[in-house]
Amino acid sequence: MKQVISIVVPCYNEEEALLVTAKKIEEKITTLKKNDKFKCITDYSVYFVDDGSQDGTWNLIQQLNEQNKLFCGIKLSRNKGHQNALLAGLVTAKETSSAVISMDADLQDDIDAIDEMLDKYLAGVDVVYGVRSSRATDTFFKRVTAQGFYKFLRFFSDNPQNIIYNHADYRLMSRRAIEGLESYSEINLFLRGIVPDIGYKQDVVCYERRERVAGESKYPLKKMWAFAVQGITSLSIKPMRLITMLGFLLFFTSLVMLSYFLIRHFTGHTVVGWSTLAVSVWGIGGLIQMSIGVCGEYI
Ligand code: UDP
Ligand code: MG
Repeated sequence: MKQVISIVVPCYNEEEALLVTAKKIEEKITTLKKNDKFKCITDYSVYFVDDGSQDGTWNLIQQLNEQNKLFCGIKLSRNKGHQNALLAGLVTAKETSSAVISMDADLQDDIDAIDEMLDKYLAGVDVVYGVRSSRATDTFFKRVTAQGFYKFLRFFSDNPQNIIYNHADYRLMSRRAIEGLESYSEINLFLRGIVPDIGYKQDVVCYERRERVAGESKYPLKKMWAFAVQGITSLSIKPMRLITMLGFLLFFTSLVMLSYFLIRHFTGHTVVGWSTLAVSVWGIGGLIQMSIGVCGEYI
C-alpha cells in the first residue's frame, strides 16, 4: 500500500527557529527517502501552522513554500494556542496523508525518533507517542512544574492510564486515528489526554529532549497554568464531584448542628437569635454548594 506521511509543526513567533527547523526536516525526509525500509512511503509534506504570530514567521513560511513545495502553510486568524494550532494542522494534513507526525518548531523533540515512529506505524500501530527519556535540558522550574503537573493530572484523571508520563505532543497518528479525534467535540482541547482515548493500537518511542534550537519558550507561566486547567477540566469530573460531596457534607453537618443548637436553646444555654443564624448560614451554604454540584452534573 502506498503511504503519504506529513509532518505538522505549530509555530508561534518562531522566526528565529523556523529556517533551522525546516532545513533539519528537509534533510530528514531526504534520508528517509533513501532508506529501503520506507520504500512504500511515496510522498512527504510538511505543514507549518502559523498560530497568529506577530513576527515574521508567516513570511518565512511563504518563502519556504516558494522555494520548495514540500513545505505548506496554514495561517490561523489569531493566536488560538498550541493545541488548536496542532488540531488545525492534523485535520488539514489528514486529507492528503496516511499518517501525520506532530512536532514542535524548536527541535526539542529528537527528529531521529521519526524512523522508529514510522517503523511502528508500518507494522500496524495507529498512534505512536514520543516520550522523553529525561528532562535534563529543561530548567529546574520547568522540570518540577511539568512533573508535578503529570502527577496531579493522574491523581485527578478519571482514566489515569490515559496520561502518558513525559509525553508532550510529539506523536504519529494514522489517518483513522485523526478521524477518531475529530469526533470529539471537546472545546477545552487537551490532545495528549484525548488521543489515548481514541483506541486502536498504540505504542511509544523514547527520545532525549534537547535544548530549544533558537528563540524562547512560547509557554510562559500564564499559558502553562491555562493549559494545566484545561487538562484537568477536560479529563476529569473529580473536582466537580468533590464540590457536590462537600455540599452534602455541609448540609448534613448543618442538620446535626440544628439538633445541637435546638438542645442548647431549650436548655437555655444560648443567646437569642444565635441558633437560627448559625444553622441558616451552614444550611444555606451547604444547599447552595450541593445545588451547584447537581447543576454541574446535568450540564
Ligand atoms: N506554540 C503555538 N502557539 C502558542 C504557543 C506555542 O503554536 O500559543 C508552539 C510553539 O511555536 C512551539 C510549540 O507550540 O512549536 C511548543 O512551544 P514551546 O517550545 O515554546 O513550549 P515549551 O517547549 O517551552 O514547553
Ligand atoms: Mg519547546
